[in-house]
Amino acid sequence: MNQPTFVIHLESALDGTRLDANLPHTMHRERPLWVRYDLAAVRRAFRKEMLRHRPHTMWRYAELLPVAMAEAVSLAENMTPLVPCPRLATHFGLAADCLWIKDESRLPTGSFKARGLAMAVSMARRFGIRRLAIPTAGNAGGALAAYAARAGIEAFVFMPADTPLVNQLECKLWGARTYLVDGLITDCARIVREGRERLGWFDLSTLKEPYRLEGKKTMGLELAEQCGWRLPELILYPTGGGTGLVGMWKAFEELAELGWLEEERRPRLVAVQSDGCAPLVRAFEAGERFARPWENASTAASGLRVPAAVGDFMILDAIRASGGTAIAVREARLTEWMRLVARLEGISLCPEAAACVGALEILGARGMTRPSERVVLFNTGAAQKYVEVLAAELPRIADPSRVDWDQLEAAAA
Ligand SMILES: *Cc1c(COP(=O)(O)O)cnc(C)c1O
Repeated sequence: MNQPTFVIHLESALDGTRLDANLPHTMHRERPLWVRYDLAAVRRAFRKEMLRHRPHTMWRYAELLPVAMAEAVSLAENMTPLVPCPRLATHFGLAADCLWIKDESRLPTGSFKARGLAMAVSMARRFGIRRLAIPTAGNAGGALAAYAARAGIEAFVFMPADTPLVNQLECKLWGARTYLVDGLITDCARIVREGRERLGWFDLSTLKEPYRLEGKKTMGLELAEQCGWRLPELILYPTGGGTGLVGMWKAFEELAELGWLEEERRPRLVAVQSDGCAPLVRAFEAGERFARPWENASTAASGLRVPAAVGDFMILDAIRASGGTAIAVREARLTEWMRLVARLEGISLCPEAAACVGALEILGARGMTRPSERVVLFNTGAAQKYVEVLAAELPRIADPSRVDWDQLEAAAA
């Protein structure tokens, strides 16, 4: 197989062992791998000006990616907008022009999981892999199903039986062989691991497969470009398996190495979890590098229901290196924050991202935000995928020919 990219090898995140990038890999000593590039060569070949003429998709950073645009399995992964949120900022006592939501819900399949799975499926196709499997809290399964369909590759999806209904149905719609598991995502992960030999599929679990991280990395590359290569001071990110946070941190490191960033300073990363499942927050506060599994994990923010993350040390390292923090917010208030942002800004946040709104409140109370700092909050998915969370009783007009206008005005309030 030819290697038209700048990838030089894969590297164990735990001990630095190098692996051949021309072969498909999962992990080394049960821990994740980094994809490494010849950044000196990238620096010579890639200049900011070249971006001006490239399509506005995640593939525009080709020199920092493992596959070329022409080889990508793609559904048009457009750059997602940074939407200013003046009313939300004011609500939390921030300067009106300092808060943005990076709206990842506009990607294909309605979540940022599209970035990682577009990349992983592109690589799988390149390696000639014909059968893929994934354990999922919801959105990753949907994204795999869609990209596998696009590539003509078979996909098996395993999700907890109480995964949001829309995720279940979308996997089925896109033709993945979808199973509900009476258990947690860790049980789904075990099924995928144990089925590897018997059914011959390739395991696409978060961070057990090295290229999903490279897809998520484009979130950080994009953010840097959109901010004129002057990164914001604070990033709030709803953290489950952690690929988003770790991917962004890797993006910033690579951009710094290329000399593209305007400042030495990096954003402080804030990993946000629900108090129904907060293993990373617990480890952060205890000063530990590895997180103990969370018992009885339970949250409506299904993307955050990850009791044990295989890349825990990568997440915690990144948060600490950035001078950031990890925050658990109250599960019971997630819908309140969804409604707040919907009402103030017209943006539909997934419950995961709503947790970041709660974190904004806590950061403010702890004096950890400064007035003129630029804050970016990630909306990782679309509220519309969480019908169970949104379920509400609406007032009814029983007889459309006899509208009671007084009652109507009262009921709408
Ligand atoms: C998967 C998911 C997350 C968690 O993302 P990681 O990068 O794995 O930490 C957050 N929000 C949504 C909507 C997700 O689907």
